Amino acid sequence: MVQEIAKNVFVKLDYEGANVGCILTDEGAIVIDTPMIPAEAKDWAKTVSQLTDKVLYVFNTDHHRTHIMGNQFFDAPIMSHEAAWKEMANYKDTFIERTKNLFKKRPEIQRQFDEISVIKPELCFTGRLVMYKGGRELCFVHLGGHTPATSGLYLPDERILFTGDLVVVDEHPALGQCDSEGWLKKLTWLRRQKYSLIVPGHGPLCNVEASEPVSEYIRAMRSKVRSQYKSGRTKAEAAVVISQMIDYFPYRPGEKSIIEKRIRAGVSRVYDEMKVIYGQEPSRI
Ligand SMILES: [Zn+2]
Repeated sequence: MVQEIAKNVFVKLDYEGANVGCILTDEGAIVIDTPMIPAEAKDWAKTVSQLTDKVLYVFNTDHHRTHIMGNQFFDAPIMSHEAAWKEMANYKDTFIERTKNLFKKRPEIQRQFDEISVIKPELCFTGRLVMYKGGRELCFVHLGGHTPATSGLYLPDERILFTGDLVVVDEHPALGQCDSEGWLKKLTWLRRQKYSLIVPGHGPLCNVEASEPVSEYIRAMRSKVRSQYKSGRTKAEAAVVISQMIDYFPYRPGEKSIIEKRIRAGVSRVYDEMKVIYGQEPSRI
């Protein structure tokens, strides 16, 4: 179901990947992210076509598959942070294959990826980009934290912020490419802002306080991995943290191994961060 959260600001929160949005201006629409599953991406494109006859730009909040896989179903240039472009420029055919592998138990979805190719951004920014278009002001802002590319879209008139995966609700945040300290700082900053509404990367609409569980999660991950590191455990041994983190957020039945993989990537990333802070990997006794 598409929801109008402010005049001409639409979101859809129930696709399997990330949340998506569509903002109408007098000259056409800005689409925020495209669903991962091709049938859902087509559905999103159809939904958007019922709201507008012209899409001006599709904005990818980061380069992860849950935000970009449906880009090809929109007849509009893709825009993103420059770091997302750099990542996507390196995606090979194996990227689609790995996406397919996520759906091993759902062959009807796997097949849909045969027609998918990754459409890369052609308009990139780094810090901040303000667009004045069709009677609207749209601020694309770099947020970082979750990935170097993570960016949001702020609508000053409505005081609505689309955060990308800087904020996710009721879901394990993905720390595999994060700057965990930068992420915590950005979330602290976010909680001081006076936004009327947050559209998170995943999960229900929320306010700035909903970012607190994400901060808690990152703090817990840092502290658990830090203590593993300081006790001389190797990265492989630090994987015990996975079972300590798994119950922080709910996950769907059958999804456990995917979530464990996500946490493992986070442990690995934070372990590497600890190496930078405390010196080289301790040798085993
Ligand atoms: Zn992401």
